[in-house]
Amino acid sequence: MNPSHYDAIVLGLGGMGSAAAFELARRGRRVLGLEQFALGHDRGSSHGQTRIIRQAYFEHPDYVPLLRRAYERWYELEQLQGQHLFTECGGLNIGLPDGELIAGVRRSAAEHHLPVEELSADDIRQRYPQFRFDDRYVGVLERNAGFLYVEACVQAHCAAARAAGADLRPEEPALAWECDGQGVTVTTKQRTYRAARLVVTAGSWAGTILRDLGLPLTVRRKVLLWYATADDTRFRRNVLPIYMAETSAGFYYGFPVLDGHGHKVARHDGGDIVTDPLTVNRTIAPADEADCRQFLTEHLPGVNGPRQDGRVCLYTLTPDSHFIIDLHPHHPQVALAAGFSGHGFKFASVVGEILADLADHGRTALPIGMFRLKRFA
Ligand SMILES: Cc1cc2nc3c(=O)[nH]c(=O)nc-3n(C[C@H](O)[C@H](O)[C@H](O)COP(=O)(O)OP(=O)(O)OC[C@H]3O[C@@H](n4cnc5c(N)ncnc54)[C@H](O)[C@@H]3O)c2cc1C
Repeated sequence: MNPSHYDAIVLGLGGMGSAAAFELARRGRRVLGLEQFALGHDRGSSHGQTRIIRQAYFEHPDYVPLLRRAYERWYELEQLQGQHLFTECGGLNIGLPDGELIAGVRRSAAEHHLPVEELSADDIRQRYPQFRFDDRYVGVLERNAGFLYVEACVQAHCAAARAAGADLRPEEPALAWECDGQGVTVTTKQRTYRAARLVVTAGSWAGTILRDLGLPLTVRRKVLLWYATADDTRFRRNVLPIYMAETSAGFYYGFPVLDGHGHKVARHDGGDIVTDPLTVNRTIAPADEADCRQFLTEHLPGVNGPRQDGRVCLYTLTPDSHFIIDLHPHHPQVALAAGFSGHGFKFASVVGEILADLADHGRTALPIGMFRLKRFA
């Protein structure tokens, strides 16, 4: 075999690419994975300790079948690697009854018969006295929601891919790719590679590497913050679920205290537009903290200590906030996944499977109709 010739090249080994490399390698494909930084790095979208995972999906009920599959695949990865990646601590959605969050959670739960529990404002106060929400608010509790250890998941997919024979090359950016009748050529600074198929999972760099498609992507700078609490025993995972709260001052979410860093909180909406993901400002300024601090003061007053940590991360948004997963319209040997719009990580385990299907067969039995590129035509 020509050592530079592969069945498939995966371009970008973050959340989605590491999963795709694993899935292709376990199917016996000769896989090359190229990553511009270290594996499990903190300059893209898949870092910052944890990611929420949930099934009563307010964004759209059509995500639920994929989430069921994603859960299966995370459990499988845990077992394969003998590693704890996923904690089911429950998830509490808080908002106004007719808001996007509560209405969407109820819709998905009803359509897919998901077990959720309705809570009044009084119930929230009784059961979770950490929160302060007035009588206008309601809650919907989903027991099997929780969080994934995000960097560990990326590393686990990479390790599993390598164990299955994948050739993963960190610190080797792809500079260009080209298709011909035989397959695809990818050029890096080091050398030129040939493969039958290309899978592009370049995250916030997708717009650049797929410039020919003019993808409607917007990259936004997002900040994750960790604060000390007045008493960590009131904020650990045995007493505090992950939560999402849609308030008149924004959409916030947070995690139980897991270590010495305290309570992790972030704002889902907003964020400055980023023109170049490589040069984004990674320093946390006082202005980055103001809205989360205000949220905590009003709604989680026990989280009132100094900031313990902070990270800058990137959302890559589509106009409708739904993902892009498809074949390249002009090159059927290229599969692509992009625009995960700040809610994609929980799907990485199933997106890897979908991308391997697309690369292998040009189609998948998993439901991805709503992620097709043609919706932007
Ligand atoms: C602050 C924040 C909070 C989030 N919270 C959640 C959550 O709670 N739940 C959830 O499900 N999702 C969440 N998300 C979204 C989720 O993390 C992302 O959707 C997901 O990580 C995107 O994965 P990706 O593989 O597309 O991008 P990335 O993980 O960034 O991977 C893309 C990779 O491609 C590499 N690359 C790019 N160009 C090249 C090149 N030319 N050559 C080689 N390599 C290249 C990059 O270096 C990178 O490693 C959150 C995101 C952020 C930023």
